[in-house]
Amino acid sequence: MALIKLESIAHSYYPNPEKDEDYALKSLDVDWSDGGAYALLGPSGCGKTTLLNIISGLLTPSNGRVLYDGKDVTSLSPEQRNIAQVFQFPVLYDTMTVFDNLAFPLRNRRAAKKIVDQRVLEIATMLDLEHDLKKKASGLSPDAKQKISLGRGLVRDDVAAILFDEPLTVIDPQLKWDLRRKLKEVHHRMKRTLVYVTHDQIEAMTFAEKVVVMYNGSVVQMGTPQELFENPAHTFVGYFIGNPGMNFFDCHIDGKDAVIGKNRISLSHDLLGRVKKAEGDLKFGIRPLYLDLSSTPCDNCIKVEIASVNNLGAYKIVTAKMDKSMVKINVPEDKEVTETKGWLHFPKEWIRIYSNEYLV
Ligand code: ATP
Repeated sequence: MALIKLESIAHSYYPNPEKDEDYALKSLDVDWSDGGAYALLGPSGCGKTTLLNIISGLLTPSNGRVLYDGKDVTSLSPEQRNIAQVFQFPVLYDTMTVFDNLAFPLRNRRAAKKIVDQRVLEIATMLDLEHDLKKKASGLSPDAKQKISLGRGLVRDDVAAILFDEPLTVIDPQLKWDLRRKLKEVHHRMKRTLVYVTHDQIEAMTFAEKVVVMYNGSVVQMGTPQELFENPAHTFVGYFIGNPGMNFFDCHIDGKDAVIGKNRISLSHDLLGRVKKAEGDLKFGIRPLYLDLSSTPCDNCIKVEIASVNNLGAYKIVTAKMDKSMVKINVPEDKEVTETKGWLHFPKEWIRIYSNEYLV
């Protein structure tokens, strides 16, 4: 396993890039620590696969360096970097048995028969493939084939890192859940450096210790699932993580309050100190989960008109009109919301202010 360092990496698919938009990846610096489990999360087209291919060596970046344990590997191939990769669709030898497919990466490295037998059985057991070892891969379901692909990625214990590019896309939803759990177990047992590309926040948040959120060719935040939820560093993270995402309102500061339309919401002393130095467009952000909705007027509360209530079983999502803006509120399932009016309390500790889209 290795510490992987990306230094001032940028990439353009154009031969002579000029503008910022010509770059699929804008300048980024990211460290992937040895043995960490990372998810690379972001919407389609934000640059996840480009970044993964730069880490693996399938792509040489236009600018910057890739370092493995301090060694510059920018121009080395995936084989020379000693990387295992699992792609979106199964990559295996249909005419070979499941055993031989799993054994392939080990035999390729001339591993001893005893090691091959032991590792293949261990990985097959982990992925519930132990009863299929003698079967030909061609006759298996797409799910089973992708499990073999995963197994081939996991079977060697001497790789610098294992990279997964949306590996569960072809997998049935129930099995997806099991495989995600299994990958997490594998990581706990083997402590490999894993980088897992996905556009699915649930997949990223359940699998990874750290999630790297990408937006428009840049890394906007790298943090634990809790950090991303509680302190989104960029409005995109607030919007993309959580369901529904964070509420955002244009605001300005007046005295000790944030002013949103006609309403004033008081800020903590600490936040005010930081906001006073902020420049540019300001946005007020708060998660639906941290808002308190009351059916009676309360101190420091703002009156809202209830627009809709969506019962999701474990909780309800209330949509309300606050002056000219719409706000989403997460309400416990046992709380009745029958009135057309409500009063919202904004707990100071959960208010975040963004300046030019970045957290103040
Ligand atoms: P997805 O989730 O859809 O796979 P992604 O986040 O992995 O998206 P990339 O595939 O890295 O994004 O693409 C980033 C940008 O680079 C996109 O605008 C894409 O159109 C462009 N791009 C990707 N591959 C190439 C290529 N081979 N040639 C030209 N442009 C490319």
